[in-house]
Amino acid sequence: MSSKPKVVVLGAGYAGMMTTKKLMKNLSPEEAEIILVNKHNYHYQTTWLHELAAGTINPNQVRIMISDIISPNRVRLIYDTVVEIDQENQKVILENSELIYDYLVISLGYESNTFGIQGMDEHAFFIENFESSQLIREHIEYQFAKYHNDPNAEESSLAILVGGGGFTGIEFIGELVEKIPKLCKKYDIDRGKVKIINVEAAPTILPVFDKDLVAYAKKSLQERGAEIIEGTKINECTEEGFIVGENNELIKAGTIVWTGGVKGSSVVEKSGFEITKGRVTVNGDLRVPGFENLFIIGDCAWVMNKVEERPYPPTAQAAMQHASTCANNIRALIRNEPLEEFVFSDKGTVASLGVTDAIGSILNGTKLVGKSAATMKKVVDDRYLLLLGGPKLLLKKGKFRPF
Ligand code: FAD
Ligand code: NAD
Repeated sequence: MSSKPKVVVLGAGYAGMMTTKKLMKNLSPEEAEIILVNKHNYHYQTTWLHELAAGTINPNQVRIMISDIISPNRVRLIYDTVVEIDQENQKVILENSELIYDYLVISLGYESNTFGIQGMDEHAFFIENFESSQLIREHIEYQFAKYHNDPNAEESSLAILVGGGGFTGIEFIGELVEKIPKLCKKYDIDRGKVKIINVEAAPTILPVFDKDLVAYAKKSLQERGAEIIEGTKINECTEEGFIVGENNELIKAGTIVWTGGVKGSSVVEKSGFEITKGRVTVNGDLRVPGFENLFIIGDCAWVMNKVEERPYPPTAQAAMQHASTCANNIRALIRNEPLEEFVFSDKGTVASLGVTDAIGSILNGTKLVGKSAATMKKVVDDRYLLLLGGPKLLLKKGKFRPF
């Protein structure tokens, strides 16, 4: 039996993959055994799921085999689903086995948050993971094929209704306005018959951007046929569509997608960790309060911005930065060295509005719109691939193709 400490990383998303990569670099094989657990044998680009859901990207571009990036000779790869963490016995319960750990990193990502809205779990689709996004793409195509073949099909079956006008909802609408004309052509359907509707409760979509950028985004999407309904709360979801606003009006659609918010993986709550709005508050070194050897990072973590006294939003940008601090701190614990504090370095934010359009606010607040913002988004996407798998992965999966 090996006496090396076991470092177990749960979830191979942005946080888990980058932590594992950094641990491989930080620690010699003699210092620790590294184990990475993930539901599937592939890592996917969560930040591209809206493209997958709309059908504007090849699914194979979104997925990367974990063993192509992380050598199974160096890291034990376990493809299984995490059910629960037994904190007391330092044990992870998987669907098919159990694992003992000395150091644990929980990076299981997000789940959609429906805030208890009646009917949402039963009737809406979610851009939650690779499979759930594939399902949306297939469902939309099915609705078009059905309409084409069934003379009695209702026009509303072609409508696509998206609940929540945050980043995910708006980026998805941006892909749809480009995809739908192509589907109309394929199934010989008049584009005028297909409604693409976004409903947002707040007075404006994308509230993190300033009003000029929001106005640009709205105009760009509306000109390409999207309907944007702001200041209107979704009260309920039925088989037919959303019930919205003070008058409980029904908006009918054949495809209903909820993009109204996210929370950390339910495994964390189930395992008895204290939850704040679906995530676990961690210390400055990213450990869970009261635990010497347990880190929670990525979308499961509630990391405070101490200057602004609010949590940082759950983003891939933050998840990758958590990974670096977390891997350094595990090395420090193993080597009995001081731990470092997490410091977020904000590189800016870009929201895509389809393949060739976007809005962004970068570095010192410089605003970008149109092709320059869309190019910036692709640069960010490609930078991640380069960090993860070097030039080989970038060439295989990158978005460097000219418009
Ligand atoms: P994830 O990337 O979600 O990875 C979690 C991993 O854990 C997955 O591999 C999953 O399969 C695995 N897993 C989950 N549950 C289990 C289980 N029970 N057992 C085993 N394995 C499990 N952020 C940005 O910074 N920039 C962007 O442009 C951006 N665009 C986005 C676009 C979309 C459409 C969405 C939905 C999000 C976007 N985000 C963006 C947010 C970003 O994707 C998340 O913050 C980021 O993915 C969080 O990383 P993570 O590693 O915590 O989780
Ligand atoms: P979000 O919380 O950012 O947005 C959800 C939106 O849904 C909000 O605008 C909210 O007002 C609205 N909403 C909630 N309840 C509603 C209701 N009942 N009726 C109508 N509208 C309602 O969630 P998201 O867009 O899924 O993003 C999740 C995280 O991922 C965020 O931190 C975001 O920054 C990140 N993300 C980033 C990017 C990017 O950087 N390009 C892209 C996608 C997601």
